[in-house]
This record gives sequence, C-alpha cells and structure tokens, in this order.
Amino acid sequence: MKSCRICSAPVRLYLTKHGYEIFRCTACGFGQINVTAHDIEDFYDQSYFQGEKAHFQQGLETEPHPALPFWLEHNLDRVCPSNGVQVLEIGPGLGGPLAGYMRKTHPEMDYAAIEISGYAAENLRRRGFRVFEGRVTHPATIESCFERYDLIFGTEVIEHDPEPHPFAQAVYKMLKPGGCAAFTTGNIDGWMARWSGQKWYYLDPPAHVSYYTPSAVKILFGAEGFSTIQVRRYGLSYINLKLKTHLPGILLATHLSNISTGMSILARRGQQEN
Ligand SMILES: [Zn+2]
Repeated sequence: MKSCRICSAPVRLYLTKHGYEIFRCTACGFGQINVTAHDIEDFYDQSYFQGEKAHFQQGLETEPHPALPFWLEHNLDRVCPSNGVQVLEIGPGLGGPLAGYMRKTHPEMDYAAIEISGYAAENLRRRGFRVFEGRVTHPATIESCFERYDLIFGTEVIEHDPEPHPFAQAVYKMLKPGGCAAFTTGNIDGWMARWSGQKWYYLDPPAHVSYYTPSAVKILFGAEGFSTIQVRRYGLSYINLKLKTHLPGILLATHLSNISTGMSILARRGQQEN
C-alpha cells in the first residue's frame, strides 16, 4: 500500500493495531488499512451488532445518542424549509435509532436507508422502513436514488468504507442539485487521537478502515464535485456536553482547540450541474 486513497500522495506506516497496519498519508494525513470492500463484505453480521467484533454494540431497541437528534435537526434546517423532503440515511444499523426518530418527529418526510448488513436491513424492513441493501456504490441503488434526496446523512459510517472516492461520488449522484450530505466521523488529526496514539479507541480495524482529517475531507468532497464543504472539529460527545451544560461557545472552543475525537461534516452539491 503505497499511496493515499484520498489524494494519492505516498503513505507511511503509522502504527499497528488488532494485527492490522495503519498507514498515514504524508500530505493530507488520511489513515487507511490494507483491506478491500470485498474483504469486509461479510463483516456486519449478527455478532457485529452484539459487540463481538468491534468497539460497538447495537440492539433493536437502541435509542438515539442524545446528541443525534440535535445534530440531525441542525442538518435538516440546512435543506428543508417545508414538507415533502426526501431523506436518505447511510448505515443506520440494526436499531436504526434515527430512523425511529424520523418516523416519530417527521412523519411527513420520506425516509429511506442504505444498509450494508443483510441482518440489519432485514430487521429495518420488518419495522416498515424502506431499505436498499448493500454498498452505497451498488449501481442499482444509485439508479433508484439518482438525484432524489435533499439530505443524505450517516453517523459514524464513512470510517467503515475503504473506498472514499466511489462512496462520495455515489452520494453526490443521489443528491438533488442543491442538496446536502452530512456525516460524523473521527478526526485522526485531533489532539485526542494524537495524545492517545495506539490507545485511541477510534482506531478499530477492521471495523474502521478509513481515518479522516479535515484536509482529507475537503480534498475528497471537493474532488467529487461538492461546492461547499464545512468541517466542524467536534463530534457527538461535545454536542452532548453542550446540551447538558448550556455553556456558551463550547462548540466553537472545541472546534478551535481541535481536541475532539470526532468531527462533523457538511457538503453541499451545487445548484449547477458539474
Ligand atoms: Zn492523502
């Protein structure tokens, strides 16, 4: 593995964890491991959701993390002044906590999901959600969703995909012109990641295979045609802290200090065709 999956610059070995070598780009800082989409296609089975394979667990009754509705509403505000909004979630997982929230809070919106896990997809369908099963880049899914969505979002999802450019390109195609994509993920350039080194909990291969930096995010979405790309250097735990403490300026301070494990991304597809 010699070049960066985001910007093609040379990579160097960063560290090894769970028996996987993690490489960092010498230019944009992106972290990657040497697995393909094919290698991990059977990874997301029942035992994954039971917490046997990664630093993650999710049941059918999982409630949304308290910060998630706040994060989602903030992003919905960017795209939807009225009813009739089409929303697509990537990777809701077994419990689909935001799917349940959408159904309760925004029943007028058209919600659908793309889910890589057959096990999770079946459970979501059983609850009446519209689900496209498989990868985001599946040609039939792109065709069905082509220019259909006002908002496409995924929380803690893009770090699971080993093909950033095809992923972002597929999202672009599924957005209406003027639509937005919103994601949360880890920031391997943040101080928490730097201080923790190998102990950083977010380094979790082979579940997490792509480790973003703010510059990697900007290069990726810019290359795929997105016109406005905003990176906020805080994740769900600092949003939660803001909601609990009501401390003014806490999110701005977190963003400026670059201390958080997580970051929030918003990328808009321009009104004009590229
Ligand atoms: Zn790079």
